[in-house]
Amino acid sequence: MITTINPYTGKELKDYQELSKKEIKAKLDIAQLAFEDWKNTSFEHRAEHIRKVGELLRKNTDSYAALMTDEMGKPIAQSRAELEKCAWLCDFYAEKAEGYLAKEHVETEHFKSYVTFEPIGVVLAVMPWNYPFWQVFRFIVPALMAGNVGVLKHASSVMGCAELIEDIFLEAGFPEGCFQNFVINSDEVEAIIESKIIKAVTLTGSKPAGAAVASTAAKNIKKAVLELGGNNALVVFNDADIDKTVQTCVEARFQNTGQSCIAGKRLLLQENIADEFLEKFTNKVKELTSGDPKDEDTYIGVMAREDLAEELEELMNASIDKGAELHYGGSRDKAYFAPTILTDVTSDMPVFKDETFGPLMAVSTFKTEAEAIKMVNNSKFGLGASLFSQDLKKMESLATQIKDGAVFINHKVASHPALPFGGTGISGFGRELSHYGIREFVNIKTVVIA
Ligand code: NDP
Repeated sequence: MITTINPYTGKELKDYQELSKKEIKAKLDIAQLAFEDWKNTSFEHRAEHIRKVGELLRKNTDSYAALMTDEMGKPIAQSRAELEKCAWLCDFYAEKAEGYLAKEHVETEHFKSYVTFEPIGVVLAVMPWNYPFWQVFRFIVPALMAGNVGVLKHASSVMGCAELIEDIFLEAGFPEGCFQNFVINSDEVEAIIESKIIKAVTLTGSKPAGAAVASTAAKNIKKAVLELGGNNALVVFNDADIDKTVQTCVEARFQNTGQSCIAGKRLLLQENIADEFLEKFTNKVKELTSGDPKDEDTYIGVMAREDLAEELEELMNASIDKGAELHYGGSRDKAYFAPTILTDVTSDMPVFKDETFGPLMAVSTFKTEAEAIKMVNNSKFGLGASLFSQDLKKMESLATQIKDGAVFINHKVASHPALPFGGTGISGFGRELSHYGIREFVNIKTVVIA
């Protein structure tokens, strides 16, 4: 039995009966059967269904958002925004998928040569709780548009959302088996990847989970895409528009109560504007409303689980022990972690080296551009970085020196359906979204006529 718990009230929400091995096998067979038909459907047919999913998300936003908020403590307004983004993704791929997967003619010495992008079959997704809808949609929408079908092992804490997403696809008219939720514990994942029905796997989550899944996939010569979080830097140069940048940096760190892989976790300030920036930044952080995630005005909810808040507290305390200054916040009450700012952070401290997955900003200063870039790149992660300055030409040039999967100038790092999303280093490999994402799980087939 998997039991979900409301992290704000601490009360149990619902029990979910785990699937037996026999039930898992039966569901995999259903997925394979569904694929045999779905792969032959037209893009128009697929788009019609995906658009219907988007319509349902918009029509039932309030009830879907309420469940998300109950299960992981996301402030209700942010739950609704997540659903709107998923609906946008549906419309986006409904329109673009056919073009993204259109046959490519290539000039060779042969009479004719071209490349087609064909579906591969049943893809497994192992997904986390932080964006319970978006993480799943980012996988399943392009997968279905490409003619694949999907099975989901969602995080144990959001089993209700997982079940609901399956219902939404069925209500939108998708045939049984095109998208199935598996109520399973992570111990079952290995055997599922080994099944000959599963052709590839995608995981968003922690490094240990990613390493486990990718190892099993590799042993079975199956493709894996991994999105394993980040430790993004927000770099503020002395010619940045301070007020705008303060606002952006507050959102970059504290949205979703800080539980985002692309959150700006390390704030790097050029020394001669550091005091002014920090004062303005702290004042904005003080204005963030903590409270019941169901209240419209709440911006900081609780963290998704108490143990995650405890982990963040450990990283904070270990950094303070090494000399970081607790500038603001720092308190915890069960799963609630107050918005926190640590200053005087150096590269040997846990809040600089590790991923702080909650509302804590680690602040450091730098003197020169070269030093700033060195600090950005001084991370095992490589998901993204933001640079703030009015000198766009210089920023574009600095962007080339950053090893991450994304650089945003005067903006927080954010996913966008039209742009590839993914990292380098221990942030993982492969890309989601855009034409790169939809081509991860296809057979890129060469056809030659001599
Ligand atoms: P996990 O990586 O443990 O969970 C993510 C998903 O992977 C869940 O569905 C989980 O299932 C599953 N999983 C866990 N271990 C395995 C395994 N060995 N084999 C197969 N599947 C597995 O994340 P946590 O919830 O424990 O969060 C820990 C940290 O991970 C966070 O503090 C953060 O740093 C990072 N993280 C990053 C995210 C991102 O967006 N990149 C999202 C979430 C977390 P189950 O829930 O049943 O354990």
